[in-house]
Amino acid sequence: MKDIRIGQGFDVHRLVEGRELWICGVRIPHSTGLLGHSDADVAIHALCDALLGALALGDIGKHFPDSDPLYKGIDSKLLLRHVTALIREKGYEPGNCDITICAERPKFRPHIDTMRQTLADVMGVEADTVSVKATTTEKLGYTGREEGISALAVCLLFKKDPA
Ligand code: MG
Repeated sequence: MKDIRIGQGFDVHRLVEGRELWICGVRIPHSTGLLGHSDADVAIHALCDALLGALALGDIGKHFPDSDPLYKGIDSKLLLRHVTALIREKGYEPGNCDITICAERPKFRPHIDTMRQTLADVMGVEADTVSVKATTTEKLGYTGREEGISALAVCLLFKKDPA
C-alpha cells in the first residue's frame, strides 16, 4: 500500500431525553443525550469510520456489531483505542484528523480543547493534530430541529518506517 492514506467518516444519532450527551469522549451537560447501543458518541464513531476507511478495513458496525451485548453502553473511547491499535498493527500512524459536529445546541466551544486533548490521549497523538469544529445547520433539517446530532471526520494516515 502507498505511504499516505485518507479516510472519511459520517455518523448520526437521535437525541432523546434521559440519556447523557457524550461527544468526542467528553460528557457535555445538556437536557437530552444521544441514543445508541454504545454511549452513542457520534463524533468518535465518525472518526473511527474515517480511520478504518483510510485502510479499507470496513466500518465501525463491522468491527463492533450493535447486536453484540459486549458493546452495550460501551465508552466509545475504547472503540477508538481499539481502532487506533489496529491501524498501528497494519503499519500506519495517524497523521491529522478533522472533525465537524453538526448540532443546533448546545454550544460546544467551551469543550473543544478538552475534546481535542481527550481524543489525542486515546489515540496516542499530539493534540495539535486533532481538530474539532462545531456548526449549526441554521435550524434546517433534523439537526436544526434538534432531533439528532451528526458528525463528519477526515483523517490522514502515514506508513510507518520499517523498524
Ligand atoms: Mg454511531
